[in-house]
Amino acid sequence: MTATGKTNLAGMTKARLRDFFIALDEKPFRAEQVLKWIHQRGVLDFDAMTDISKSLRDKLKEVAVIELPDIVEDYASADGCHKWLIEVASGSRVEMVFIPEAGRGTLCVSSQAGCSLDCSFCATGKQGFNSNLTVAEIIGQLWWANKKLGGFAEKKERPVSNVVMMGMGEPLLNFDNVMEAIALMMDDLAYGLSKRKVTVSTSGVVPALEKMKDYTDASLAISLHAPNDELRSQIMPINKRYPIAQLLDAARGYMASLKDKRVPVIEYTLIAGVNDHRQHARDLAVLLKDFPCKINLIPFNPFSLSDYRRPSGSSVTNFRQILQQAGYTVTVRTTRADDIGAACGQLVGAVEDQTRRSGRYRQRAQSETGKVFDSTDNLAVTADRL
Ligand code: SAH
Ligand code: SF4
Repeated sequence: MTATGKTNLAGMTKARLRDFFIALDEKPFRAEQVLKWIHQRGVLDFDAMTDISKSLRDKLKEVAVIELPDIVEDYASADGCHKWLIEVASGSRVEMVFIPEAGRGTLCVSSQAGCSLDCSFCATGKQGFNSNLTVAEIIGQLWWANKKLGGFAEKKERPVSNVVMMGMGEPLLNFDNVMEAIALMMDDLAYGLSKRKVTVSTSGVVPALEKMKDYTDASLAISLHAPNDELRSQIMPINKRYPIAQLLDAARGYMASLKDKRVPVIEYTLIAGVNDHRQHARDLAVLLKDFPCKINLIPFNPFSLSDYRRPSGSSVTNFRQILQQAGYTVTVRTTRADDIGAACGQLVGAVEDQTRRSGRYRQRAQSETGKVFDSTDNLAVTADRL
């Protein structure tokens, strides 16, 4: 419901739209027409929906709107990536990033403004939590990427072939909205992405992971980042609540519920001198020996005010080799778009922190740079310009 009392159809799944039309005493198949207009053709204006009668369009205008968040900043990277900032209802700005590669285009989507989980290596975490994104704000990122990249043009192949919920926020702490947005991403009448091409990345919210099988069959990525509980709890506070064994069990349960053969991706951000030692790689190989998975190594992406460093190329190679020799499929994520502050973990948007953490962050930015920041400054991007 919007401030005007009208219903916003932009974030409604097919099931919700059908209920909406039934409640209006209209045929449920209207839901399919409206879905196609919004998400296949990029049309937000009822009057342009020509297969719907004028009288129904007038009725719709009285009770409903189609509202998506606005894009407020648009950055293009020298390597072809794009970063867009959208403004969400809470007033915060969140980021989405488009990463083109040979044969595919991946959109990295945000689920929250900020994040409460405070992982020590993550710029979003440093900002604290502001708000959960609505379904319209999450699916709006995919809508906007298509709009900006010409994806609504007829017969054109869509530029976004994959979505990863790896932008700002912890998707499983905004469970209902993320599940509905994913349903829209995978609906053939909307974006039609296959379950293999939509990935939920989680730092390990175990109860949510345990119930996820009842809502979706999307692909899964687990942010592990350490081979033992002691180290993981130091860099990811959530591990104190849900330690590694519980997390891997929950992931196993989810994977077992899928009807096809798929394995989760284990994400491991390599931070120099923290978790990138050869022994960490050996321990990781042992930890995961009964856990079918692929491993994705992410060399730490520095951001202003983090003291962590990216490991050298040779230590990344060593780490990779140890895991490969133990039989794992390992990829190393190449850093993209760091010239626009859009690489993994650099996303900060401009979040009004409710935990005061970003105030401290801003203060430190000011004392270290001598510049004055306010809450609308995107610190990562600003830092790149300093
Ligand atoms: N909250 C979710 C999804 C967003 S973070 C999660 O934690 O999985 C997406 C990925 O980027 C995670 O694997 C996260 O650990 C990683 N990441 C965060 N900060 C990073 C940094 N500074 N450098 C490299 N990767 C980072
Ligand atoms: Fe939140 Fe993920 Fe960043 Fe951790 S890594 S603070 S869970 S966004």
